Amino acid sequence: AAGVLSRESGHEQVVFCHEPRSGLRAIIAIYSTALGPALGGTRFYPYACEEDALADVLELSKGMAYKNAIAGLDLGGGKAVIIGDPERDKSEMLLRAFGRFVQSLAGRYITACDIGTFSADMDVVARESSYVTGRSTELGGAGDSAVLTAHGVLLGMRAAGEQVWGRWGAPWQRRIGIQGVGKVGFRLARTLAEEGATVIVHDVDQRALDRARAEIPGVQIAPDLDALLTADLDVFAPCAMGGVLDERTVSRLSARVVCGAANNQLADETVAKLLDDRGILYAPDYVVNAGGVIQVADEIGGFDLVRATKRADRIYDVTREIFRRGAADRVRPDVAAARIAEARMADLAAVRTVH
Ligand code: NAD
Repeated sequence: AAGVLSRESGHEQVVFCHEPRSGLRAIIAIYSTALGPALGGTRFYPYACEEDALADVLELSKGMAYKNAIAGLDLGGGKAVIIGDPERDKSEMLLRAFGRFVQSLAGRYITACDIGTFSADMDVVARESSYVTGRSTELGGAGDSAVLTAHGVLLGMRAAGEQVWGRWGAPWQRRIGIQGVGKVGFRLARTLAEEGATVIVHDVDQRALDRARAEIPGVQIAPDLDALLTADLDVFAPCAMGGVLDERTVSRLSARVVCGAANNQLADETVAKLLDDRGILYAPDYVVNAGGVIQVADEIGGFDLVRATKRADRIYDVTREIFRRGAADRVRPDVAAARIAEARMADLAAVRTVH
């Protein structure tokens, strides 16, 4: 079944991992190694069934290939999902069993953190595998990738704001709505609020909201997603799960810019046009949220935050370039971004087969 799926979806390799003693059920998907080893995080999530997990990992690994390509990294795209409730099912045994599977791929796949996994977990996985990033800083790792993810999203927001309004303007003139105040959304919200922007957030986890209220000056809480979407916003920043933008949510959105950290924000391929038709500028998710992978990729050669931050600073130029190319070619930004990523993968794949 994996072979058929892999052929149909364009993936190079899909690996189903079962280890009964630890209860591990995971899937590792490698979309492309055209540019180098496939780097992408491990999502630990209570999927309703294996099919849902497979659909997610196929989509996410493809997204990583595009993200790494457009970020200029010498890395392909991959992703892993562990099926289970991280709060209940995570154990040393399970993480080490997962590490054995990562190791078995001999460097074709390099893992990192994602939703439900943290640097401390990567430290455990790294006891079984050499192909792990996002480890704790005390162990020489890059640590929490939310640091440069939030940094990159802010730069993307500035580039998008300049495109729409001519300039980003004074922070206090901007009203930003953020869905999800977890690792990335919280940092984004705090930085924007500290700069003086009006920040409105929504989260389904009361603990995340309590923390936001306690630590983010002046933050406003929207009781539900609809209240957030219809609030008077300049920018909507999806920072929770994927798929938040669909026909219904786009029709309610008051913002002129969508720019956030979540992967796969558009529920399907029709949504980019819906946004465009409403005059809402969409900064492609994998372009502006590449700061995290830039941060963990730096760990491969020995982590240096200054170097990684400089590299993440380029997200501003890349986002501007996508808007420029989109306008020049008369295509939406998502199309312009995909063209650039696909061209780099195809061109370098061809060159790299020449001896
Ligand atoms: P996280 O798990 O720390 O935070 C996600 C937050 O969203 C949590 O507080 C959760 O309660 C909330 N949430 C979940 N479903 C929600 C819903 N339906 N409505 C409102 N809130 C909801 O994850 P994170 O690391 O902050 O990542 C956020 C998003 O950004 C994810 O989609 C992730 O894949 C993506 N991303 C993260 C990084 C990174 O470096 N952490 C990098 C690139 C992309």
